[in-house]
Amino acid sequence: MASFLIIVAAGSGSRLGRPEPKALVPLHGRPLLSWTLEAFSSLPFAGTVIAAPLGRIDDVRKLAGAGAKVVEGGATRSASVRRAFQTCGAGGDNVICVHDAARPFVTAAEISAVLSAARERGAAIAATPVPDTLKRVAEGHVGATIDRSGLWAAGTPQAFRAELLARALESGEEATDEAALCEALGIPIAIVPVSRLGFKITTPEDLELAEAILARRLSGPGAPGRGAEP
Ligand code: C5P
Repeated sequence: MASFLIIVAAGSGSRLGRPEPKALVPLHGRPLLSWTLEAFSSLPFAGTVIAAPLGRIDDVRKLAGAGAKVVEGGATRSASVRRAFQTCGAGGDNVICVHDAARPFVTAAEISAVLSAARERGAAIAATPVPDTLKRVAEGHVGATIDRSGLWAAGTPQAFRAELLARALESGEEATDEAALCEALGIPIAIVPVSRLGFKITTPEDLELAEAILARRLSGPGAPGRGAEP
């Protein structure tokens, strides 16, 4: 059962406040997207499609190399996934893995776990239990405390059997993730617990955190160019 990868990288990243689109923002000397692609490089996907920011297809092609197809993304995330899915050539019981370019710290083990769950159950998403106490706020004041038990933050990778994702995307609805489109059709979604390091880089603080993580990882023992510890 072949797996295909869709990386959605077409967002503007307005909350980062940078001139370049988010996927191309420099992170530790390389565009964010290249770190995310590296996280997937050891996994055997039958095909990869990247949804690129408007007017930046050539930049994304250079980062992705010859093995991946690159399409221009759409105005919304769902539109970007729809375009990439039409290009990937998957069907039947192939599994499609959708991942945000903005989550560079996903691990190969997590990706494999989400793919396995989707192969077995049809649809699966990476998620983490919500750790904070949640308040509903109106006009600067707390209106209510939300019971956090049973609340999970949905992330990516999200993986689906191709025929299920096709049905979800054909609905024409918009959502902030593909699981929500499936849920609307009554498709059950399995949860795969993952590390909070799979956070989505959204704000300048997230970028600072990502820089610190890479600086620590790349200067530690075994880091490229440092040789083995005695
Ligand atoms: O905007 P947000 O951070 O929620 O976007 C999540 C992911 O979806 C990002 O990797 C972004 O590049 C992608 N996206 C997209 N096309 C859009 C909007 C977002 O590919 N129109």
